[in-house]
Parts: sequence; structure tokens; C-alpha cells
Amino acid sequence: MNIGIVGLGLIGGSLGLDLRKAHHTIYGMSRSARTCELAVQRGIADVADCHPQILERADVVILCPPIGLIESVFDQVQPYLSPKAIVSDVGSVKGAIAPLLHQRWPRFIGGHPMAGTAESGIEAAQSDLFQGRPYVLTPLEDSDPVAVETLKALVQDLGATLFLASPRDHDRAVSLISHLPIMVSAALIAAAMDSDNQGVLQLAQSLASSGFCDTSRVGGGNPELGRMVAQFNREELLRSLDLYEHHLQQLRRLITLGEWENLEHSLHHTQTARPHFLES
Ligand code: NAP
Repeated sequence: MNIGIVGLGLIGGSLGLDLRKAHHTIYGMSRSARTCELAVQRGIADVADCHPQILERADVVILCPPIGLIESVFDQVQPYLSPKAIVSDVGSVKGAIAPLLHQRWPRFIGGHPMAGTAESGIEAAQSDLFQGRPYVLTPLEDSDPVAVETLKALVQDLGATLFLASPRDHDRAVSLISHLPIMVSAALIAAAMDSDNQGVLQLAQSLASSGFCDTSRVGGGNPELGRMVAQFNREELLRSLDLYEHHLQQLRRLITLGEWENLEHSLHHTQTARPHFLES
């Protein structure tokens, strides 16, 4: 199958590597001629160009720029797409993008490969990034079944685990397990820095170990990513923050009242629940 990939960064480049390995022909499009050269050299694309005309033979086009640019990149490439082309994206938020692009291109189906690294750009692209990882497709009720089946087959070619969800359910779920943790973890780092005693702060920094490392990792990540998910998944993130504040208040109340058995019971409950989020 002829597959166009627009935006040859970490996700776009990694898709190119694996879809080429699965014997698809990749037409890459990048803003920079140097990236096009690198894409061909690294085996990410069979051919690559800065002009969207490169996409005219593509059966499937996957848009891989930052979330805030997916619609404008679609505007740029749309005039050059085959009328039969199936279009998808890889944005980490779906509600703000998928229904809108579906209206404009009925064969658009949102996608979100849930894999990544802390790196970005074409240099960060790697093989097998999606192997065994979830890949969510968000078809709508009136989505073209052939387009859905075609994308499902590509997810299978990547070795990823397919999930189907509505854009809203997707955004609600990722808000809880991905976007909320960024904010909670950022608040944790801010709280740890908030000591008015310089000696205590320095001691805390020296003593911080695996517990702080685990809980602060996503709060210490790429600020642009945090801003993007908050901006584009604002409603669901606010809902998740409300839930979090509620549960934090519950724990605070038990500690204030010295209800140690109830506190332990509550922590038993979370201890039992945690593996269910990590088993897959
Ligand atoms: P990335 O490595 O920075 O790649 C994004 C690519 O988009 C850039 O390499 C660039 O490619 C292109 N781009 C940047 N600015 C652009 C502009 N102004 N106009 C047109 N193209 C532009 O980022 P990424 O991690 O691959 O993320 C890309 C998408 O994947 C995002 O929508 C993100 O939500 C989603 N996603 C990311 C992860 C993750 O963990 N990183 C996971 C799942 C999904 P060219 O230089 O080739 O133009």
C-alpha cells in the first residue's frame, strides 16, 4: 500500500521505519529538505519531499505534526490528496481534532499510537516503537468501514495492540492516566521546592531517591507537551483534576482526624487497584 507520512519526527519517522519493514511504500513529507534526505537515507521513506504533491499517490496519509498544527497541515495537503485517500493522525488528543477533520474529509479516522520517548525529531525515530503498545483508533458512527478496516490492518502491521474508542472516551481515559499525572507530578516538584528553609531544601534534594524519581518523572518532562495536552484536552483534564482534588481531600481529612485504620484501608484499596492499570 502507498502510505504518505506528513511530519517526519519521532512518531512519523518511527511509523515510516516499521510500515516500510511491513512492505508498504512510504511517501514522506517534511518541511525541511535535509529531513527528506535523512528520511530516505535512514529507510524511513522510499521517497520524501517538502511539497505536498508527493502525497498524490498515497492510499493512506498519516498526519504527524504537533497537535496544534494537525488541522493547518491538513489544509496544506488536502488539495493534493487522492479523493479516495484515507487520512489519519497521531495526535495525543482526539476530541478537538477527529470530529472536525471527519466533517471535512469523510475518510478521516483519528488515531493515537501510545508509545514514545523523551526525544523528538527525525533523529529520535526508531524501529519497533509501537510493538506491543496500545494504538487507539477513534472512528465515528458514520465512519467508512473500509477506512476503519484498512487502518486496523496497518496497526496490526506495526505489532501494536488495537483499541477502538470514541474521541471523547479516548480523551477522558488518557486524561486520567496520562495528562492528570503530568500535572500531579509537576505540583509535587513545585511543593518539594517550596520550602522556606534553604537547608531543608538542600537536604531534601540530596535525599531524593527512587520514590521521588518515579513520582516526579512526568512532571519534569517536556513543558510543551504538558501545555499542549492541557490546552487541547482542557475540559477532561479539569474533570480529572477535580476528581484528584476530591481524593486528596479525603486522604487529608483522614490524616487530620487521625483515622489511621481508615487511612490504611484506603491505601489497601489503591494498592489492589494499581496492578489493573499496569498489567497490560
Ligand atoms: P516531534 O518528534 O517533534 O515531531 C513532530 C514533527 O512535526 C517535526 O519533526 C516536524 O517534522 C513536524 N512539524 C513541527 N512543526 C511543524 C510545523 N510548524 N508545521 C508542519 N510540521 C511541523 O514530535 P512527536 O513526538 O513525533 O509528536 C508528533 C505527534 O505525535 C503529536 O501530535 C503528538 O501528540 C503525537 N504523539 C506523541 C507521542 C510522544 O510520546 N512523543 C506519543 C503519541 C503521539 P518535519 O521537520 O519533518 O516537518
